[in-house]
Amino acid sequence: MKIGLEVHVALPTKTKLFCSDLAYENQEEPNSNVCPVCLGLPGAKPVLNQKALEISVGIAKALNCEITEKTWFVRKVYFYPDLPKGYQITQLDGAVGIKGYVDLNGKKIGIRRVQIEEDPARIIREKDYTLIDFNRSGVPLNEIVTEPDITSLEELKNFIEELRSTLYYQGVNINQELKTDLNISLAEKRVEIKNVTGVRNLIAAAEYEIKRQSALIKEGKEINAETRSYKEDSNETVSSREKETEEEYGFTFEPDLTFYDTAKLSIPKAVIASSAAKELAYKNEYSEKTIRELILFNKKNLSLLSSLSKEEFKKGVSLIEKFASFGIEDFSDEEFKKMVGQDISSLEKDGFLQLLGRSSKYEEKPDEKEIETGVMEILSLDKNLLARGINDEKAMGFMIGKVKEKYHVSGKEAADIIKKVIKRILNN
Ligand SMILES: [Zn+2]
Repeated sequence: MKIGLEVHVALPTKTKLFCSDLAYENQEEPNSNVCPVCLGLPGAKPVLNQKALEISVGIAKALNCEITEKTWFVRKVYFYPDLPKGYQITQLDGAVGIKGYVDLNGKKIGIRRVQIEEDPARIIREKDYTLIDFNRSGVPLNEIVTEPDITSLEELKNFIEELRSTLYYQGVNINQELKTDLNISLAEKRVEIKNVTGVRNLIAAAEYEIKRQSALIKEGKEINAETRSYKEDSNETVSSREKETEEEYGFTFEPDLTFYDTAKLSIPKAVIASSAAKELAYKNEYSEKTIRELILFNKKNLSLLSSLSKEEFKKGVSLIEKFASFGIEDFSDEEFKKMVGQDISSLEKDGFLQLLGRSSKYEEKPDEKEIETGVMEILSLDKNLLARGINDEKAMGFMIGKVKEKYHVSGKEAADIIKKVIKRILNN
């Protein structure tokens, strides 16, 4: 059995790949977040989002790729309403990263390339007509193409888990959005399942397709080389007619963009959660699974756990779990250090907060640093709010209310401080 994947993930940038519109697609109003560039109007010129380039290099490094020193773009030419300019800007030979791998306990799953590309517009099919929403057009993506090295469903699950943890430390959350093209061949002929959304569907689609092909082989029947699609409602894959095959696309150099020097970028060393968990588990003789879960739960946990001596380690894990169980996520490194030596095992929340030096309720005047954490959290949960921005009174009022609720604060002064923090964050 051979399984290969083409995984698309959205990059966590504030703006789109080639223009300055916001990159979040979940706008209330369709086609409200667009400009000549992402509408594909004639004469509009793309300008590469530097942040998207940096994140992509980070992802490619984390996936052990060779980084292309001067990376460049191509036009993938096809005619379809989601791309009115007639081509998608993507990468091929000039892809930002090539020849990487993901290490699954000693077995390497090859990464053919990591490429940057723009998301096309969203097509909404109704019964008698079709709508197009360009809010999504130009959202920065990475396409991660694997070699067909995955040989079982179990390995596929492990690969996705490893990819999830690797991307997490690059700021990409694949739980939210993941679109995959999945190649599965049990015999000679290659079957491709296009556009599977989400991790759960990916596994379900693979499971179904493996069963389907096995049954055909058992019956002595031929497996057709074809493109299929996954139907979530009935949990099956069905034969679908493709708009075009890869060979029919025209690729041409993108003359509106240039060569981008990746060597100049300073990209921090990639954190691989599984290796870090393995190392910490070995050093401290502790359960690798628990450590892995903790460091995937919150990035901060990795540095906290790494700072502990072997003697403190077990206490440190209990402390992190205690913080989590009391819903305190905004604790500082100092607070952690202070608490790690204490006996906290029998403490209830009030006693814990007291020892921490916090009262269980906030005063009239909230701390700006705390509020900032709260605001960021609320914004990350609801991208609509971020997009609607500071000029939207209703969105602002909603955010202030949420923060007040979270920190048990009330009064005008508190509201003013929260408003100031929100404005500062949104203007950044
Ligand atoms: Zn735009």
